[in-house]
Amino acid sequence: MIELRGAGYSYGGTGLLAGLDMAFAAGSFYFLTGPSGAGKTTLLKLCYGELKPTMGDVLLDGRPSASLGRDQLAMLRRRVGVVHQDCQFLDHLSIRENVALPLTVSGQDVGAAAANLDQLLGWVGLAPRANALPPELSGGERQRAALARAIIMDPDVIIADEPTGNIDWEMSQRLLSLLAELNKLGKTVLVATHDMALIRAAKSLVSARVLRLAGGTLQAAGAEL
Ligand code: ADP
Repeated sequence: MIELRGAGYSYGGTGLLAGLDMAFAAGSFYFLTGPSGAGKTTLLKLCYGELKPTMGDVLLDGRPSASLGRDQLAMLRRRVGVVHQDCQFLDHLSIRENVALPLTVSGQDVGAAAANLDQLLGWVGLAPRANALPPELSGGERQRAALARAIIMDPDVIIADEPTGNIDWEMSQRLLSLLAELNKLGKTVLVATHDMALIRAAKSLVSARVLRLAGGTLQAAGAEL
């Protein structure tokens, strides 16, 4: 669903990414690594249409993102669940309401989806915290809530930006196993991380491809894990 063809990006005049070619295979699991500032977040934003390339094309479902209108892009973005680095929530709403927000925003009946919502909260281990407010959650709980919110619309692709950046090792492992489970269900997963220990730990859970972004270009980092 996502393909880079000679894609690049510059903020202002300074080139950051250039000539990237990559087709993300449906149902595969990718890690995106590289030093801080290499452009991982920027590349993820290109992949979910938040940014449009300043060079080449990013094809979303076969069409260049630059040619898509707002409505077409919005439709495609519903098929991509994003876990942002800072995972922000509406602090006056409960975790359950925050996770349900994409349903509410897209005009779906949250009442009808209640069983699904509760099952999802259970799956990420947050059923006992469903009525808590976001500021009451630990870092690991916030990340799992953000993952639940990202997948409530049943996307084909899950993109996570440094999802384990601020959480301890045990929680990182737990989040990783949830992402691996989603991949086993057929979802394409793309995770930006500079945590090599996490990538090594993934070896026993999932067959992942590792891409390294450095010096503005993207390379496969070794064979499959
Ligand atoms: P990474 O995720 O690998 O740390 P980023 O994609 O966040 O890299 O950032 C890559 C570079 O682009 C950094 O030097 C950053 O300062 C710069 N950058 C990111 N966002 C913007 C922006 N909105 N405007 C200008 N420069 C930016």
